[in-house]
Amino acid sequence: MGQAVYGLIGWPVGHSASPAMMNAAFQEMGEPAVYGLFPVQPSRIEAAMAGLAALSIRGVNVTIPHKQAVLPWLSDVSDEARFAGAVNTISVDADSGRMSGHNTDVSGWWKSVSDAQKTPWEAAIVLGAGGAARAIAAALALYSPATRLRIAARNVQKAEEIASGFRDKIAIEAVPWEKRCAAIEQAELVVQATPVGMWPRDGESPVENAGCFHSGQVVQDIVYRPLETAFLKLAASQGAKTLDGLNMLVHQGAAAIQFWMKRQAPVEVMRTQALAAVGGTPAH
Ligand code: NAP
Repeated sequence: MGQAVYGLIGWPVGHSASPAMMNAAFQEMGEPAVYGLFPVQPSRIEAAMAGLAALSIRGVNVTIPHKQAVLPWLSDVSDEARFAGAVNTISVDADSGRMSGHNTDVSGWWKSVSDAQKTPWEAAIVLGAGGAARAIAAALALYSPATRLRIAARNVQKAEEIASGFRDKIAIEAVPWEKRCAAIEQAELVVQATPVGMWPRDGESPVENAGCFHSGQVVQDIVYRPLETAFLKLAASQGAKTLDGLNMLVHQGAAAIQFWMKRQAPVEVMRTQALAAVGGTPAH
């Protein structure tokens, strides 16, 4: 039997740290498997999905812009993917060709913050109202429904759309962007889920007032290039515990391996490889 093929479907995918991280994991696990990049133009996603089983591909991760477009092809969708309204991991059954979908941003993000603090979060805030913010809201709704969650976005309507989708599961409210500092002050868990501060615009921060932060908070930036964003530096200057975005990347990858192979992934090996792929030192 040859190597099992896995990979990342997206457009573009060239910048991804995933091949280095996933291939290192397969090697460490002794799995005869290989992980590659599949650049799939938006107009070709249907052809790509139709071809996965025929090509004996065993699983894929899915990224922008295909996370919703793949849904009609799936026979089963996990709670995480259903709550998030998007799929980022697909498993292909070798015999039947049936495909099932999961969202490991949901469980991966949860693992990345619950490793940092074991006690339940009373109040959390997410900055941004895109796909990642929705996955984070889904994670809190599934795994920490007693948390009060606020979502601050420059387009408050988008935050409201997320909030209305989760209101029956968790106490959740949309916050106008101008009021984000006061809302951050009141939160124990603060998650930066916009692209602001991402390389090459790494001097930028979605919050400029250090007074929004204080010790006792856990502050995460899911941007991981650079690892120590201007946002995290500001939070650290006030004594907050900071978490970089690499842990989310590593844990979503580890959850994908668990979904495909029903085996624990070597998280430390994956983190070392991902760190080498993005460069730099962690923020904690
Ligand atoms: P997305 O769906 O495009 O959403 C981005 C959100 O950020 C939107 O709400 C957008 O607002 C907002 N935003 C963009 N520029 C902004 C600005 N200058 N000021 C205020 N808000 C702004 O993206 P996503 O998939 O949620 O990803 C968000 C970030 O997280 C990306 O940098 C991505 O690389 C990172 N990420 C990291 C991981 C990880 O594993 N660490 C996983 C997923 C995503 P509008 O709607 O108004 O444009």
